[in-house]
Amino acid sequence: RKRVVRISTGSKQFDSILGGGFQSMSISEVFGEFRCGKTQLSHTMSVIAQLPTELGGANGKVAYIDTEGTFRPERIAQIAERYGVDPEATQENIAYARALNSEHQLELLNTLSREFAGGAFRLLVIDSIMNCFRVDYCGRGELADRQQKLNQFLMKLAHMAEEFNVCVLMVSIIIPVHALHAVGLAYNACQTNQVQSDPGASSLFAGADGRKPVGGHVLAHASTTRVLLRKGRGEERVAKIQDSPDCPEREAIYIITNGGIND
Ligand code: ATP
Ligand code: MG
Repeated sequence: RKRVVRISTGSKQFDSILGGGFQSMSISEVFGEFRCGKTQLSHTMSVIAQLPTELGGANGKVAYIDTEGTFRPERIAQIAERYGVDPEATQENIAYARALNSEHQLELLNTLSREFAGGAFRLLVIDSIMNCFRVDYCGRGELADRQQKLNQFLMKLAHMAEEFNVCVLMVSIIIPVHALHAVGLAYNACQTNQVQSDPGASSLFAGADGRKPVGGHVLAHASTTRVLLRKGRGEERVAKIQDSPDCPEREAIYIITNGGIND
């Protein structure tokens, strides 16, 4: 029988608000503004997932879907050194794929399903979930099509998480509300990366903290655990549980180091 495993974030404080880390057999979403550490967390967990359970890992292989071209093998090596594991072996245990467009992103799940069937994978990272969809479905008239394709992608993800006992970590970005007001809630240039007006998001889902995740209600409902990341004082970053089946809405402070996410 499959047992849920938890994968550490690299920060004890962050882990504690999650009840030990992000869980397998479910989808977790981290969202937040640029440079709050979403990609760094993705890298850190890609190393930790490979560690033994005593060290917060899951003894597993990792799949990494990169839609933004921000994956850095050098960072994996640095984080591996923090945990005293072989940098090259750690890199080799990460199946990396660059998603070229939304169609390709969907196809990648089929390829990965075949690999996951071997039972060795415990973490699937998607950084970030909406990037391709946003570019491919640019106009207002395409919103319904986009949400349908996105829904298909998320259903498949949820199925894979359960079937293969994998922790799915998906990254998304948020639009600060002042940015929406600045464009009069209108459709904005699709290429904008950090601050994005998204007609789907603005009309379908209002997040707490006056922020709206790109992707709308489809995305908000697909993930079991949602965590908002933001910048804190100085180098500090703050993680806040937004939505969880078994954790209260608490906050934790973490930092980004050479060895990845830490306290
Ligand atoms: P975006 O929305 O732009 O993708 P993000 O949330 O993914 O942003 P990250 O790339 O994870 O952000 O984090 C960027 C931050 O990580 C920067 O503040 C950078 O200074 C810090 N950082 C990156 N590498 C290191 C390192 N080796 N040591 C310390 N801090 C680092
Ligand atoms: Mg990033």
